[in-house]
Amino acid sequence: MLKQIVYSVIIPVYNEEAVIDETYKRIKRVMDSTGEVYELLFVNDGSRDQTAPIIKKYGVRDRTVKLIDFSRNFGHQIAITAGMDYASGQAIIVIDADLQDPPELILQMIEKWKEGYEVVYAKRTHRKGETFFKKQTASLFYRLLRASTDVDIPLDTGDFRLIDRKVCDEMKRIPEKNRFVRGLVSWVGFRQTAVEYIRDERLAGETKYPLKKMLKLSMDGMTSFSYKPLKLASYAGGLVSFAGFIYMLVVLYLKLFTNSTVAGWASVIIIQLLFGGVVLIILGVIGEYIGRIYDETKDRPLYIVRESHGIETKPRKVPHSVKHG
Ligand code: UDP
Ligand code: MG
Repeated sequence: MLKQIVYSVIIPVYNEEAVIDETYKRIKRVMDSTGEVYELLFVNDGSRDQTAPIIKKYGVRDRTVKLIDFSRNFGHQIAITAGMDYASGQAIIVIDADLQDPPELILQMIEKWKEGYEVVYAKRTHRKGETFFKKQTASLFYRLLRASTDVDIPLDTGDFRLIDRKVCDEMKRIPEKNRFVRGLVSWVGFRQTAVEYIRDERLAGETKYPLKKMLKLSMDGMTSFSYKPLKLASYAGGLVSFAGFIYMLVVLYLKLFTNSTVAGWASVIIIQLLFGGVVLIILGVIGEYIGRIYDETKDRPLYIVRESHGIETKPRKVPHSVKHG
């Protein structure tokens, strides 16, 4: 009988052949130093380079290496979700593959976990080697999100964190499709604490989060944790109709009590453009929500696994009646 796995390290990888060797070595060194049984659970999110074959090679001589190989690119958040579905450890750690999250910090997280915390997230005090634009937009996003939701989502915190088995089991019960994992972990609750760190530069290769994916992630974060955009839409609508009403009174007054029946081409065009713009924005916001409702109703699986290595368990979905002792 194998000894029970204490730590599962989830490493989502997407075209990371440039860094994977170094990442594997560094995480391995850190996990070895814990002196306990662990697994390194790589989730290959449809890489088109040599990432998967390289990981398979590790697996041949290293029993701790496990691989879930997606049939295509499903996205970072879904890869993390799959990792949680398949992880069998008592504490589950999620870490990026590009060494922007220093693996050595895991040891501090483990200490906090042993103190009894069920979620230990890593908060960035500083970010190195990222563009001004990325830092500013990320910072703005975290603050906007925090201001617009009741869920206590910590600022400047990515997915680098440790969660207890109990939290992981609850995460598995959440069927949401457009997942914003860090928000869901906050939503789940339990005793949470932070360790702070400086976010390093990516070791090699380039970011796998182009603007498009960042926008999708922030939209998911916003829409799944806040109705504020919908409310803002109706406020904006109200405001514009009110302004329109006032202007109508002005027009009526001019028409009835003065002789200045100006050919009002400019004002008509301006009002048209203004109203048109506002209506389109509101429609767009509503569309974002409806699109997500549609995704949920389709009830497609979150991801499709082409093959897996080193994994015996068959996870999703943990039935709702499961109790944790
Ligand atoms: N990633 C993934 N699927 C994707 C995009 C990214 O699994 O579609 C992984 C990537 O391999 C890395 C992590 O998610 O381990 C974070 O990506 P990246 O470092 O490129 O994002 P950034 O740090 O630039 O925000
Ligand atoms: Mg990165």
